[in-house]
Amino acid sequence: MQIVLRGAAAGYEAEHTARIFFPGAGKAAEIPAEGDFILAVSHEKTDFVLLRTGENLCWRSAVRAAGEDAEYTLCCLLYQLLREKTGQNPPWGMMTGVRPVRIIHDLRAMGVTEAQIQERFLGHFACTPEKFALARGIADLQRPVLERADPMDCSVYAGIPFCPTRCSYCSFVSRTVGDKATRALVQPYVDKLCEELTAIRHTVDRCGLRIRTFYIGGGTPTSLSAAQLEQLMSHIARTFDLDGLEEYTVEAGRPDCTDLEKLRIIKQYGATRISINPQTFSDEVLRNIGRRHTAQDIIDCFAAARSVGHHTINMDLIAGLPGDTVEGFTHSLEQAIALDPENITVHTLTLKRASDLVVEHRAAAYDDVAAMLEQCKLLQQAGYRPYYLYRQKGTLQNLENIGWAKPGTECLYNIYIMEEIHSILSAGAGGSTKLVIPGKRHGKIERIFNFKYPTEYIDRFEEILARKQGVEDFYERCTTETICQP
Ligand code: SF4
Repeated sequence: MQIVLRGAAAGYEAEHTARIFFPGAGKAAEIPAEGDFILAVSHEKTDFVLLRTGENLCWRSAVRAAGEDAEYTLCCLLYQLLREKTGQNPPWGMMTGVRPVRIIHDLRAMGVTEAQIQERFLGHFACTPEKFALARGIADLQRPVLERADPMDCSVYAGIPFCPTRCSYCSFVSRTVGDKATRALVQPYVDKLCEELTAIRHTVDRCGLRIRTFYIGGGTPTSLSAAQLEQLMSHIARTFDLDGLEEYTVEAGRPDCTDLEKLRIIKQYGATRISINPQTFSDEVLRNIGRRHTAQDIIDCFAAARSVGHHTINMDLIAGLPGDTVEGFTHSLEQAIALDPENITVHTLTLKRASDLVVEHRAAAYDDVAAMLEQCKLLQQAGYRPYYLYRQKGTLQNLENIGWAKPGTECLYNIYIMEEIHSILSAGAGGSTKLVIPGKRHGKIERIFNFKYPTEYIDRFEEILARKQGVEDFYERCTTETICQP
């Protein structure tokens, strides 16, 4: 399926409205001579949309009333046509944004009434009442976290862009540590990462910031050797005031590279939360996604983590993996619940263009995925409650990812980053530092990017340090230009 757009109002929103129904659709500059396509045209006073599938052509046109938003009317027309012709009823309706909860926070902050917020979701976006209730419940739960936010708070993220093997659904720039060339990169990478974290500590001090949470993610941080992991975590322990943190997470992601020794190091150097990510408890599905470990390895890894004292553990699951079924996914949920982790995060499979799943055309249309997510009622029954939610482009059936937590164990970092409550200073390849204007959470966000690939990160490290000066410039502008005033 190709998407063709014409006219000033036919842009990002129309493109992503089409992808609600056809998540893997590409974009074409011209109408293709052959094959399926969607055409969306915005004229001065009219909208026109057309769908060609096989030999079938169908189209709609509408005249825009004076003062109507052309982008919105075009998306409505397109949404109606695609809904009718595909028979799909997307639960989030026409919403293409990735942060529904943030919309509620922002509307509340602007003084919009609860009834108007409801109308925005149910009317404007055509969401189902269930999805609106879900987003509103999460916004209510997060409210105290937002209320205690301080303008000079921040969090720090350190990224490890290496993994033992590549999962078929992944589009992340992570490199597999199996090959010799990549293994040779890991040590210089860890050395530079430590240097960058030292620089971040100085920046934090000079700007007068307070670090609330620390997060080591990836990739897979435990794909480092035990010695490299200890080097990194001991450096962090010496460089930062860990006692002052609210939370310190390390993703121990995969059992094929996470052993007792590494779990001990993570505990010894102060992490308060780890993540062990099964994705599924089916050996067959694990093989389908390119993982070289079994469900039993995950169970053993979890037991090892508990044995060395990890008291807050997250487990990630994914609904919609190739070869999985509603029964299989239900079994994965039941198995995760039986292990009794404090957090369970349920993702919906997202089709990323750079992933092997999409490149090799192995992604089946997944009719069962909504039924899988319905099984999350098991989490509710087991005492978990949803505490953060986000969506991604290209997610099957345009569904969502939800973090579930036992009350009092919610991951604050996830809320901070998703709701853009304070700045996140990122270290490592692919890191994106997000600067939130103090006191203006609902306004502009500035970003500073690190180089994407480990080789560039190592070779051009001085440029990375120079870019970080932008953090100080940002906070200086905040005080001198008084943009801190709400
Ligand atoms: S572990 Fe995560 S980052 Fe690594 S390949 Fe798999 S999905 Fe990608």
